[in-house]
Amino acid sequence: MAPDNKETLSNLLQESRRFPPPPELAADANVKADAYDEAAADRLGFWERAADRLSWAQRWETTLDWSNPPFAKWFVGGKLNVAYNCVDRHVEAGRGDKVAYHWEGEPGDTREITYADLQREVSKAANALIELGVEKGDRVAIYMPMIPELPIAMLACARIGAVHSVVFGGFSADALRSRIHDGQAKLVITADGGYRRGNPNALKPTVDEAVADSPTVEKVLVVRRTGQDVALTDKDVWWHDLVDRQSDTHEARPHDAEDPLYILYTSGTTAKPKGILHTTGGYLTQVAYTHHAVFDLKPETDVYWCSADIGWVTGHSYIVYGPLANGATSVMYEGTPDTPHRGRWWEIIQKYKVSIFYTAPTAIRTFMKWGDDIPAKYDLSSLRILGSVGEPINPEAYVWYREHIGGDRCPVVDTWWQTETGGIMISPLPGVSEGKPGAAMRPLPGITADVVDDQGHSVPNGGGGFLVVRDPWPAMLRTIWGDDQRFIDTYWSRFEGMYFPGDGAKRDEDGDLWLLGRVDDVMLVSGHNISTTEVESALVSHPKVAEAAVVGATDPVTGQGIVAFTILRGGAEESEDIAKELRDHVARTLGPIAKPRQILVVPELPKTRSGKIMRRLLRDVAENRQLGDVTTLTDSSVMNLIAEKLPSAK
Ligand code: ATP
Ligand code: MG
Repeated sequence: MAPDNKETLSNLLQESRRFPPPPELAADANVKADAYDEAAADRLGFWERAADRLSWAQRWETTLDWSNPPFAKWFVGGKLNVAYNCVDRHVEAGRGDKVAYHWEGEPGDTREITYADLQREVSKAANALIELGVEKGDRVAIYMPMIPELPIAMLACARIGAVHSVVFGGFSADALRSRIHDGQAKLVITADGGYRRGNPNALKPTVDEAVADSPTVEKVLVVRRTGQDVALTDKDVWWHDLVDRQSDTHEARPHDAEDPLYILYTSGTTAKPKGILHTTGGYLTQVAYTHHAVFDLKPETDVYWCSADIGWVTGHSYIVYGPLANGATSVMYEGTPDTPHRGRWWEIIQKYKVSIFYTAPTAIRTFMKWGDDIPAKYDLSSLRILGSVGEPINPEAYVWYREHIGGDRCPVVDTWWQTETGGIMISPLPGVSEGKPGAAMRPLPGITADVVDDQGHSVPNGGGGFLVVRDPWPAMLRTIWGDDQRFIDTYWSRFEGMYFPGDGAKRDEDGDLWLLGRVDDVMLVSGHNISTTEVESALVSHPKVAEAAVVGATDPVTGQGIVAFTILRGGAEESEDIAKELRDHVARTLGPIAKPRQILVVPELPKTRSGKIMRRLLRDVAENRQLGDVTTLTDSSVMNLIAEKLPSAK
């Protein structure tokens, strides 16, 4: 059970390093400081202007209908087509030859897809879906590797008003089946396989297993990527047979601003994944605006790369919809960062002259572990902005990223958001905000996030508590698919009239926000609420530690005791003394209250496929309980390795 947050969260970590925005970037930034005032003075007017960056077939009548909270409607009466906005309008504006994606396959094969190519491919795929009997409102499950047909399939669905449900291409048949069933998908789009770690990795057998007992699925559309042997069933249709013979024109009809665009399941870090429903107009407005503002995207000159997988929300919003709506040139990469060598990502940045790079703290910590000498071999001078998402970024990881990848000149934007929020909510603006390692800084213009105590009152500067969002925002989830009550219970019941994301945060003396991890993970030690993030960041600041996860385990004396699972950096030896050294280091950094009761050195940590540490499983181990839902775990053998370590520390 999570401890009862009677008090506010203790504020232990002190971080004083500061990085002002580069003056040239500040002078030429897409969004300047006045945006905050403009949005504060007229929030709805601000979002109307953001919506005007899109092309609407019919203008909306009401900007926000909040008459039936928590069910919001944005841009009511407006009509637009997402695929038209992401593709056709750029071609019509004479930018058809501009590259939309520089695609890089893991084996080194490449494809260059211009906006004109994308228009033809999406039109053909849309015509193919229609031929398969897919209609507006039908759900289409997509289970694919990171190949161009993935965004093409998503855009084809969006074009005809079908609702896609992308399932990460590494999930098991069970995980895929439960998502197909939950959405009652009519069609599944997949591939024979994709490349991972140098080998073809089959996807089709997993789909066959999931589809075998999925009566709603009528057809399975299969892209040939690896050429590996595929057992065909009577539901299967090859993409190259069906799509390639379609007409490459398709008239995109407008859809209602509130028509569903997609369902996407949360990462499953804290519990059973939730099917989050996003709709059309508000979603596209916010992802396009935030991509323009937070990454300062200059579509004419920037090359943008988000290393996420499209199977989670970062890929939906910031590989597909946001960048394409803005007419960006992006890199898309199929494989893993260490294939065929550990410099692969830096080689890609050098090759395509990537100027904006967006990745996750888990990746950054891995690169720190692999060593500074690897990125040092590549020319990364094209970079100008770096982003982070997915977990709180430890200050040490932030500083390493800035220095070793960003050449000490690129601002780092730590972007807080969720599958549920659809788009970035809290983040520095690279031309405005001073960088503070570990801080997500301020709610973006138009977003009213706050930190409150358990009574829902704003905490003063210097205080910690619960992150909330006070007003609806355009890209907010509309519900949990098929479960309005769970939507109300999960997000709108903790605080009257406010959205509660489930995360803890603190507000520093300047009023800037620091995310402190899940409230469910907060530890209650001798009456103090201590965030996992702060203790983990203290551990990661020790030169021998690459990565750390801490949990609270029942303790007869202190209520909960802190148990830390740590991975050492390459070269650091596991020894008798290391536990004492690390415990003392935490006590020195944060104070004796945060000193871990136990330190365990482990080879790996349990993570979701999107790279987040699953502390609830570590808590189960520390409490000697049976493990909870493990379907979203990357590698279940990790839990055995960790369990083996535990008795020795008791
Ligand atoms: P589930 O809801 O199923 O437990 P999840 O919360 O991990 O899974 P996502 O929507 O992928 O699913 O992740 C959103 C969460 O990730 C946020 O609520 C927050 O805890 C964390 N997060 C994302 N970005 C940041 C960030 N920049 N700083 C701190 N935390 C972040
Ligand atoms: Mg969540």
